[in-house]
Amino acid sequence: MPESVYIHIPFCKSKCKYCSFISFNRMDLEEQYIKALLKEISVRYAGEPLKTLYLGGGTPSLLSKALLSKVVKSFNYKPDAEITLELNPDDADCIKDLKECGINRLSIGSQTFDDNILKIIGRRHSSDDITKAVSAAKSAGLNNISLDLIYGLPLQTKEGLMQDLGKFLKLDIQHISTYGLKIENESFWGRNPAAIPSGIPDEDCQADMYEFINEYLENEGFYRYEISNFARHGFESRHNLNYWNNGEYYGFGAAAHGYINGIRYSNTIDIDEYIKNPVLPVYKHHLSKTEKLEEEIILGFRKKAGINIKKIKKQFGLDFETKYENILKKYSDYIEKTNEGYTLNIHGVLISNIILSEFLES
Ligand code: SF4
Repeated sequence: MPESVYIHIPFCKSKCKYCSFISFNRMDLEEQYIKALLKEISVRYAGEPLKTLYLGGGTPSLLSKALLSKVVKSFNYKPDAEITLELNPDDADCIKDLKECGINRLSIGSQTFDDNILKIIGRRHSSDDITKAVSAAKSAGLNNISLDLIYGLPLQTKEGLMQDLGKFLKLDIQHISTYGLKIENESFWGRNPAAIPSGIPDEDCQADMYEFINEYLENEGFYRYEISNFARHGFESRHNLNYWNNGEYYGFGAAAHGYINGIRYSNTIDIDEYIKNPVLPVYKHHLSKTEKLEEEIILGFRKKAGINIKKIKKQFGLDFETKYENILKKYSDYIEKTNEGYTLNIHGVLISNIILSEFLES
């Protein structure tokens, strides 16, 4: 029974140059979209009390209070449910309303404090907006705040990154999600390579930046509970941990993905089609036992807690240490033993693609 829900809100006022998420400048469709979304929820959601709800996008902070409230109220919750909403820093005016709608965790798309870089990458907020958003959140009583940080941005240097991290920490937030810039084909820059600005740090430099972030944040009392996510103890994203624990979840809205009863499914990415028929999944894939094991390994190694070999034995009847003995030996400088299984150390994280592909091929 899924106890987590992801909802996709596919609206953005403008498109960031690096963005490959499904989002459109179509706020004119807001009411029709939410009507379709509520219909999908009423047909598919079986009423389980939720541990987590996550409103992502797109820009869910663009929704009106009345519509957001209807969406949040369409579920039952466990008493301590985590209800997260992704906020664009220049939507800080709505934060009080968000709290009143039941949101208790914010994930703020801050990216960097460098105003010049924010402009280059096409963000619509300024560094001041980030500070104002965090302060508005705290004044509203929202004390579970995550900031996004992108590294490997055009013109970004290690010194600049250090300044960013310092400013993030000064805001006394609880969680930081980091992303290495990757130019996907679907993004503006992917479709228009001539428009890609110069001064993008190369892969080696990105890896250095990642190591630097890791060291800096761990020294400041944040721990890397997942490859890209750092938190103060007790403030890990419970919603995202459910993904990495290979748990079930509903996905509602255009382009949303879900995982229930061993089936991964996703809705249409066409917002008009979704509004016409919000209950027709376009893609359904029943995972084979091998695929389930592969996912368990890939997702498990993303976490600092690592993979749980007892769980693997119970679920797949497989003795992990025997089956992967050679790989565990070959990468003994990169893979560490935990009480429950194995995890990648920082050196392992940096070559995780190579290590994981060996697990999948064996
Ligand atoms: S990065 Fe976020 S805010 Fe920017 S266009 Fe993409 S979804 Fe919208």
